[in-house]
Amino acid sequence: MQRLLLALIFSLIAIANLAVASDGVEVEQAESAAETIVSAQDLLSHLEYLASPDRRGRDDWGKIESADYIIARFEESGLQPLFEDGFIQAVPDFNDKSADPIIMGRNIGGFVEGTDPLLKREWIVVNAHYDHLGVRGGKIFPGADDNASGVSMLLELAKHFAKNPARRSIAFVSFDLEEHLLWGSRWFLAHCPLEEESIRFCLTADMIGRSLGGLDIPTVFVMGAETSPQVSHCLDQIAVPEGLEVARLGTDIVGTRSDYGPFRYRKIPFLFFSTGEHPDYHTPEDTLEKLDIDKIALVSTAMLRVADQIANLPSSIEWDVDETPSLHEVRAINSVTKQLLEAEEMGEFEMTDLQRLFVSQVKSKTSYMLRTGKISPTERTWLVRSTQLMMFSLF
Ligand SMILES: [Zn+2]
Repeated sequence: MQRLLLALIFSLIAIANLAVASDGVEVEQAESAAETIVSAQDLLSHLEYLASPDRRGRDDWGKIESADYIIARFEESGLQPLFEDGFIQAVPDFNDKSADPIIMGRNIGGFVEGTDPLLKREWIVVNAHYDHLGVRGGKIFPGADDNASGVSMLLELAKHFAKNPARRSIAFVSFDLEEHLLWGSRWFLAHCPLEEESIRFCLTADMIGRSLGGLDIPTVFVMGAETSPQVSHCLDQIAVPEGLEVARLGTDIVGTRSDYGPFRYRKIPFLFFSTGEHPDYHTPEDTLEKLDIDKIALVSTAMLRVADQIANLPSSIEWDVDETPSLHEVRAINSVTKQLLEAEEMGEFEMTDLQRLFVSQVKSKTSYMLRTGKISPTERTWLVRSTQLMMFSLF
């Protein structure tokens, strides 16, 4: 009897220890995602290949070589092919309606299966387009920021999640033909290897290696948080890496600017990360030398943490647009106006008297909203218009 009791006590202790051990593992996993840092050195090796003049602006041959490079990295990381025929989804020419259309591009996709027996049926699509403008007028458009920067993030996240799978399945897709009216991502969703209802979240990066207006500011703009309360919550939860400032904006301020567009159209929650437009956007000057690789590492790290949070969420991720004006936006715009005025004072940025007056007004009005801690729908309309005006007139 006593022996039985002892055995019972021992087995209870063993169970308790097991629980501690498995808790310990969980804590360790959670910490490892929060502490993981994407390495600038690893990103650089991708960027050197993709943004090299030898890739000739990733059109024609240079684009095929880039696609091969992405596939090789996916294979190396141990991703499984996403499409029926492998890692490539052929995208036909949109003008060719014949039975055997000319192939215009290739989407590249691989995936990591989720670990949860139920949640693995739900998908997250991390994506960044790899095509660019090619050679025009005898000049190479290297597209280092647009969008070798995003692809380098994609390859590093694929590598991370292949080693540390999440509860949900994650597809990693590098779209082609973004520069042709998002034709690659539109084709992907119209001929999707995944059931549309099973895609719960889209995470897009386009141009994450420079800064708005070429200014020396630590900001990354994040759009789409308003599309889902769970996504918004996860974005709030992540540890933003030191040296990076996340500026949350509503998608209606910029509209559809990249491959999240077709997902948004289908009411799939998304986040879009971009460090913003700069004077070298769509010019031969968008080169490797001008990239801020450390910033790409910070943005990639933030994206990894968001993807990890969302892919491991126990609750479901729903499309439910929050229309209430958010102070996040006010904070973001307020910070940008401050940095603009500072940059002008330091002689790093030029503004006319009228522009300076306008930016100052936006700064004081947003400072007032932050002090009072509220923004009305009318004030938000003003904020959207003012932000759009600033973007179009200043950059
Ligand atoms: Zn782009």
